[in-house]
Amino acid sequence: MSVTSFASGPATFPPPVLEALQHDISMWRSSGQSVLELPFTSRDFSEILDEAELALRSLLAIPASHRVLFLQGGAFTHFSLLPMNLAGQSGRADYIETGLWSRRAIAEASPWVDVRLAANGDGRSLPDPRSWRMDPTSAYCHYTSNETADGLQFHALPGAGPVPLVADMSADLLTRPLPVERFGLIYASGQKNLGAAGLTIIIVREDLLGKVRPGTPAPLDYTRQAKEACKVNTPPTFAVAVALRMLRWLIDAGGVGGAEERSLRKSAKLYAALDTDAFYSTPIAPAHRSRVNIRFHLPTPALEDAFISEAAANGLLYLGGHPSIGGVRANLYNGVPEASVDVLVAFMNDFRRRKG
Ligand SMILES: *Cc1c(COP(=O)(O)O)cnc(C)c1O
Repeated sequence: MSVTSFASGPATFPPPVLEALQHDISMWRSSGQSVLELPFTSRDFSEILDEAELALRSLLAIPASHRVLFLQGGAFTHFSLLPMNLAGQSGRADYIETGLWSRRAIAEASPWVDVRLAANGDGRSLPDPRSWRMDPTSAYCHYTSNETADGLQFHALPGAGPVPLVADMSADLLTRPLPVERFGLIYASGQKNLGAAGLTIIIVREDLLGKVRPGTPAPLDYTRQAKEACKVNTPPTFAVAVALRMLRWLIDAGGVGGAEERSLRKSAKLYAALDTDAFYSTPIAPAHRSRVNIRFHLPTPALEDAFISEAAANGLLYLGGHPSIGGVRANLYNGVPEASVDVLVAFMNDFRRRKG
């Protein structure tokens, strides 16, 4: 039986990336070594880091004003590192509260910066960026471009203003084109759309560096990491090598334009299945539905449990919603093939016929 994971992360990989990685694990290019064995100070690893940065820069057309950092920690760790790095000592920052992950970002930032709520959502829809009330003296304005647990996604991006925009794009970076120049800082965990857990990508406008709070540990200091080519301590070398393979695959598959087309097609098929009748339903307003994390419900929790376990028995894995939200959730990251979405939709239609 073929199996597809719809997990929230680590996510499904494209088969050609897994094949290339098997090769890299046996032998990295002509080094005579496994990619796992390369010292982080070696020329071979510097090549991997440089090539990964170049691939990311070309995919997202990252301007020269922005630095790219390959760090550890995951987005959750960077919730506190952002204010420590960007707000200086007397910081204040605007936050947009829209769901589970932005609430966690706010909770983690609060000990380090004076958090001001500039806008908030209602759990079903998102506040229009034109209505955000930013304080011009804030060090930055943080928002979550895609609320992974709730199933919400901003489709309209905020314009650039006097307050630098900071975005947690853990779930939707590299699923669509992005005007990077509008952002002060973009960050994302690796294990959703660009590879393995253990890597956090930071894209930061250079002029925002240099404001680190005294006492910040050296490996967590963005400015120092930028100066020392992300080698203040050992970077997540294998996760960077995995990201390089994923980025190359994305380039070969039509870049972020191609990723967006696939993401639109996959999510449209699932939402069409949800919208057929009232058996499946989603509380999310149509204009703010995530293309990446499709959250839905069945008429009763018992039917949801039966759906999730029958789906798993049919090779459609990890369709349970976030533990704090419940229901069903299909996570359609870059590595999830369209054919698996077709199988899921067929299963949904069959389940509705039998139980509806
Ligand atoms: C997954 C996710 C996180 C947490 O990522 P970790 O790698 O577990 O720290 C944070 N924000 C968003 C939007 C996410 O989707």
